[in-house]
Amino acid sequence: MSSQNGVAEEAAAWFAENWDLESTLGQWWRRLAESGWGFPSWPLGRYGRGLRSAEATAVLEARRRAGVMGPPSGIATMLAGPTLLAHGTPDQLDRFLPGIATGEHVWCQLFSEPGAGSDLASLRTRAERDGDQWVVNGQKVWTSGAHKSTYGILIARTDPDVPKHSGITYFVIDMRQPGVEVRPLRELTGRSVFNEVFLTDAIVPAENLVGDVNAGWGVTMTTLANERSGLSVNATGGGGRLDIPGHRLGARVADLLAEAAAEMERAAVRPRGHRLLVELARSRGKLDDPLVRREIARAYAAGEVARISAVRAQAAAETARARGAPGSETSPLVSVQKMAASQNLHRLGRAAVDIQGPYGMLAGPDALEDDRAFETIATAFMISIGGGTDQIQRNIVGERVLGLPGEPRTDKDLPFRQLTAGA
Ligand SMILES: Cc1cc2nc3c(=O)[nH]c(=O)nc-3n(C[C@H](O)[C@H](O)[C@H](O)COP(=O)(O)OP(=O)(O)OC[C@H]3O[C@@H](n4cnc5c(N)ncnc54)[C@H](O)[C@@H]3O)c2cc1C
Repeated sequence: MSSQNGVAEEAAAWFAENWDLESTLGQWWRRLAESGWGFPSWPLGRYGRGLRSAEATAVLEARRRAGVMGPPSGIATMLAGPTLLAHGTPDQLDRFLPGIATGEHVWCQLFSEPGAGSDLASLRTRAERDGDQWVVNGQKVWTSGAHKSTYGILIARTDPDVPKHSGITYFVIDMRQPGVEVRPLRELTGRSVFNEVFLTDAIVPAENLVGDVNAGWGVTMTTLANERSGLSVNATGGGGRLDIPGHRLGARVADLLAEAAAEMERAAVRPRGHRLLVELARSRGKLDDPLVRREIARAYAAGEVARISAVRAQAAAETARARGAPGSETSPLVSVQKMAASQNLHRLGRAAVDIQGPYGMLAGPDALEDDRAFETIATAFMISIGGGTDQIQRNIVGERVLGLPGEPRTDKDLPFRQLTAGA
């Protein structure tokens, strides 16, 4: 029996014995975390089982076959947990991992700033040491879930007199303090998922510094590698929105599953992808229009390219991991996958709007047809911007796959203070 079959059987037996529809979400997540079957690739003794990727995938499949609800998702488990496991101290893991693994604490990512998105190393938020603590001042933006978060992973400048990548430090900040002000931003979709965050003399105790002082860029790379692969999986799953967990811990698992099933049923009657276009064209009497037919064919082809790119990137990552190559999530194939998913969604959205003619401009209750057209065109931007824009992905593919000359990076070796002089 292969080791995958062995662990899958062991996991299936545990799921059969422990899955309980009457427990609350909080109780279930705690039991799953303590068993190690929720995050099987995390280390033994740290809510995991230390399994290699193929075995962890077998556990995931066993859980799905058993119809059992998974562990918490979102920034806490996708970014904060793996980064702390790679760079955190045992004390930090003791303090933060329980809340992450059990879904008790929601986390956010305080990286982007008004002047530092693609060029993240240009960030200006400052952290200054004051005895046993750091005092943080600055502004972050596009911070998903900040309004619900207990903790944030934060990067801030701690030395402006060295080149920009060298003077950054990585912290865990408590979001529930007077120095942290969260202001919601309204999105194109009408929802408010992300925020501006203003930090005014916010306090971070020295024991919340992750890695070494001024060595935060390396820690950041771990977070970004996990983000790129995690978002691509979300995007190819058709959503792309970050799922912010942890706020319905008291709800019964059975009730949550019933809600999810009802939502899936609703979603199933609304067509997706090129089927949405066929349906819209039929309802507007445009199925015979050659230009509409061409767009539907193109949308079908783009959807297939996105699907196959995802399979290809996942297969490459699996092979690299099996060979013991860490950091394989940063493979440029993930960039290809992300671009394919983004182009597919943009093409679908444009075609859906075009087919509806002037009515395509309407959204929400005003929309004459299925609102999916607007939803598709609006959410496409989340995927083409979040986690690194399409243009940045093209730069990565250009440099790392096609071997084109790198971008001129004239500011790389200059002290950060010199870059901002006069700004
Ligand atoms: C849905 C969503 C959720 C997000 N959640 C978070 C979060 O929780 N935490 C967080 O910290 N951030 C978050 N972000 C922010 C995201 O990481 C940034 O928006 C992204 O990195 C781009 O940065 P920017 O918006 O500053 O754009 P800019 O970097 O200013 O880019 C503007 C334009 O210039 C182009 N450009 C920039 N540099 C280059 C270059 N070198 N070559 C070619 N073109 C270039 C870009 O592609 C883009 O078209 C989120 C964004 C979205 C859309």
